[in-house]
Amino acid sequence: MDVFESTESEVRSYCRGWPATFSTATGSHLYDEEGQPYLDFFAGAGTLNYGHNNPHLKEDLLQYLSGDNIIHSLDMYTVAKREFLETFRDVILKPRGLDYRVQFPGPGGANAVEAALKLARKYTGRNTIVSFTNAFHGMSLGALAVTGNSMKRKSAGIPLQTLVMPFDNYLDGQTPDFLLFERLLADNGSGLDTPAAVIVETVQGEGGLNAASPEWLRGLAELCKQHEILLIVDDIQMGCGRTGPFFSFEQAGIKPDIVCLSKSLSGYGLPFAVTLLKPELDVWEPGEHNGTFRGPNPAFVTATAAMKHFWADEGMEKETIAKSEQVQEALDRVAAAHPEGVSGTKGRGLAQGIAFTEPAHASAVCAAAFERNLLLETSGPESEVVKLLPPLTATPDELAEGLDIIADSVKAVLV
Ligand SMILES: *Cc1c(COP(=O)(O)O)cnc(C)c1O
Repeated sequence: MDVFESTESEVRSYCRGWPATFSTATGSHLYDEEGQPYLDFFAGAGTLNYGHNNPHLKEDLLQYLSGDNIIHSLDMYTVAKREFLETFRDVILKPRGLDYRVQFPGPGGANAVEAALKLARKYTGRNTIVSFTNAFHGMSLGALAVTGNSMKRKSAGIPLQTLVMPFDNYLDGQTPDFLLFERLLADNGSGLDTPAAVIVETVQGEGGLNAASPEWLRGLAELCKQHEILLIVDDIQMGCGRTGPFFSFEQAGIKPDIVCLSKSLSGYGLPFAVTLLKPELDVWEPGEHNGTFRGPNPAFVTATAAMKHFWADEGMEKETIAKSEQVQEALDRVAAAHPEGVSGTKGRGLAQGIAFTEPAHASAVCAAAFERNLLLETSGPESEVVKLLPPLTATPDELAEGLDIIADSVKAVLV
């Protein structure tokens, strides 16, 4: 028995589908310790949008490390934090007409969600948070309370407060959007206290790649405005360019009150999260929400490099949209070739997938892809969707290679 099996907890999971021991990685590939390459269509669950060890980010990071610059700083002022904030303001926020204060809530996505929920409750003096069917917001208790997956919810071991509404297209496609939600809000006898906030993903990365339409998102923003409910967009997985624009909600033209970012924010796989809040919401007392790892300076450095290199113009967004069309065409061909086994294609941008009629076929396809040296994960409540999250920097040739492997793998499973 190797040390992983003898010593690491049973809770480990990705390693079970991909039983290799990985050693190095560059761009769109990982290499195991025997030097076998694997094409990565998982990208750290959307953490490695710019690929592994991106050379532009690495250069700045190595220089930073070799100069004995500040690594840990709680929330003290540092040069690296100043550069991050200035770049974030000038490259990301200003050109998009967005005005947010930046809160550093701790290193992971769940930290950003917890801060968002706490702030919404503090600001409004209300309690209820509305979330959506099949949402995923993280595994800490507050974030888990607004997460749909029953297996994950059960792991809390205590009751989780919850108020769930149907996500876009959850019902029959006929029922008008927000019918139930509007009725409950309007009816003084409904038993629903006015919520503090609504938390939503524009595309549900873990929940099956369900993509909300821009109209639905605008309707939600309008409803929130009418009832003075704060709108939180969890852009942890779909932000940083995954769907094309830097923020996944840009297409809908909405301006959420609070935004959570993490995963690809550092751009290098270093833990880093922020909670963005409209200035008028910034009612925190100093230190009211804190944490030891709120000053990840190496992550500030790589995040700054990523913004300067990839987001100073519109090239990244345009390329991602072109690549997403390549992916969509290939997945549509797979779906058309297997009308019985495949129930449809899903997602948006470079977060797309294939849904299978028989859920077990999705994990079988991922296993077949692994045999062909491609990393692919499933998504959805029954793990029924094969999910593609290639690095945004994957070349059209790399995408074509992975898409061919997927077509072969589906064929092998569905014969
Ligand atoms: C990954 C993810 C989170 C949680 O982030 P962690 O870093 O795992 O805590 C929250 N929301 C969404 C949409 C995510 O994809």
